[in-house]
Amino acid sequence: MPTVDRTDFLAYLTRALEINSISDLATNELFKESLYRLTTHMLEVNEHMNLTTIKEPHDIIIRHYVDSLTVAPHIPEGATVLDIGCGGGFPCLPLALARPDLHITAIDSTEKKIRYVAETATLLGIAPTCLNAVAMRAEEGAAVGGVLREKFNIVISRAVARMSVLGELALPCLKIGGQLIALKGERADEELAEAKGLSVLGAGAPTVLPCPIAYPDEPDRIDRHALVMIEKREKTPKIYPRKYAQILKKPL
Ligand code: SAM
Repeated sequence: MPTVDRTDFLAYLTRALEINSISDLATNELFKESLYRLTTHMLEVNEHMNLTTIKEPHDIIIRHYVDSLTVAPHIPEGATVLDIGCGGGFPCLPLALARPDLHITAIDSTEKKIRYVAETATLLGIAPTCLNAVAMRAEEGAAVGGVLREKFNIVISRAVARMSVLGELALPCLKIGGQLIALKGERADEELAEAKGLSVLGAGAPTVLPCPIAYPDEPDRIDRHALVMIEKREKTPKIYPRKYAQILKKPL
């Protein structure tokens, strides 16, 4: 079973939060202990389940936790949030620990990943009103009459699909005035350039917010992370989302 040095983990986490301007959480001991617990638990379960390929604790801190937390300042107090394709719990688990005021629904098409996220949320003491994990395909929940349709203030998603595909899964789930916040890497602009048809879903003009992520003790190392933000301005026509195969075949 992998071991994680607690003292080193907490010290590195504190520095990572500080240098990435998440300083309010850098002094929150309960939050940091919860991320330590999440790390040991995730690595233990990862021995027999495919949750993460990132296994080194410092890398987990930067590439899973700091990365997930970049969305936190952009979500209004008490918002309803949908995490599409949460996999092993990113960004929903760190976000729920950082923002207990939110009401997050995390979905994934793989049932055993959802079972893991739900069990882990309980283990970490996250209230069911803050994080509810549900096994579901996004395009099914987002369809007219589906449980996700027009229900959320915010939709977040990381590493699930290119913008042209993600837009069609996410925008139908938003209330008018709500916002899609996609966690992307350095290809965000390229993905947006090919996603020319999102306005048919009721989307406003997208904005790209660069969020460079720094590593403690490595001044020259920066991850070029970006948030793509799209406001929903109008109702999504009933024909969207289409069947998944069609979305992939003819992305908007
Ligand atoms: N968001 C997590 C992260 O950043 O670590 C997981 C990313 S993983 C590469 C993509 C996840 O999206 C998988 O767990 C997959 O099951 C899920 N997924 C893909 N298409 C989906 C869909 N249409 N509806 C729901 N989940 C989907």
